[in-house]
Amino acid sequence: MRLILLGPPGSGKGTQAERLVLKKNIPQLSTGNMLRSAVSAGTEVGQHIKTIMDSGDLVSDDVVNAAVFDRIDQPDCVNGFILDGYPRTLVQAAAVEEMLAKKNIILDAAVELSVDDNAMVERIEGRYACSSCGEVYHETLKKPRIRGVCDKCRGVNFKHRPDDNAKAMSRRLQIYYKETSPLIGYYYAKKKLKIIDGMGEPDTVEKEIANALHIQ
Ligand code: ADP
Repeated sequence: MRLILLGPPGSGKGTQAERLVLKKNIPQLSTGNMLRSAVSAGTEVGQHIKTIMDSGDLVSDDVVNAAVFDRIDQPDCVNGFILDGYPRTLVQAAAVEEMLAKKNIILDAAVELSVDDNAMVERIEGRYACSSCGEVYHETLKKPRIRGVCDKCRGVNFKHRPDDNAKAMSRRLQIYYKETSPLIGYYYAKKKLKIIDGMGEPDTVEKEIANALHIQ
């Protein structure tokens, strides 16, 4: 199964992608995570990418396309993948479509998690992650089972993403509506779009996605 997850920052793409990974046994290709890894490598290019990400702007289409294309060529993607946070511009959508067509790979669906902006700001502002494994938590919506200890790796250090602050957040939302939301029409016209209410509990959203995609 080849899926695209669409939705503004904080809409739950990452959370739902992780659940789909477990269900379908296909990898999650998150361009945000790929770019954060490039940043932590500490190269000059990484430093440049970090400045863009911290401000909430988009990294250039060429950089992101190259990273995704490379990743899709890896053997673990042969049976499918979940694109999380990509494509984010019409240029990226056209580029990935052309690349997949050359490989005779058909996209199954683009799932839009539709949400309300005010709730997004709250979700993002309370979000933090384990410094060791990256598991994401929220101050009120998703606390670790044991306070101060990561459920997944037992790490005890946590961090906020540098771009999860009010200023970068408002820029990310602005960019989402300008650059990414046109993709909703793009995939609708291709009869690939599934619109899901992303405001429910993660389990409810998960079920709605499963129903829309006819998976267990
Ligand atoms: P969120 O969905 O919460 O905004 P992501 O982890 O998907 O978080 O993205 C974080 C940042 O990484 C974006 O604000 C942007 O700077 C960069 N980024 C991620 N994906 C893309 C992409 N497809 N194209 C350009 N920049 C991207």
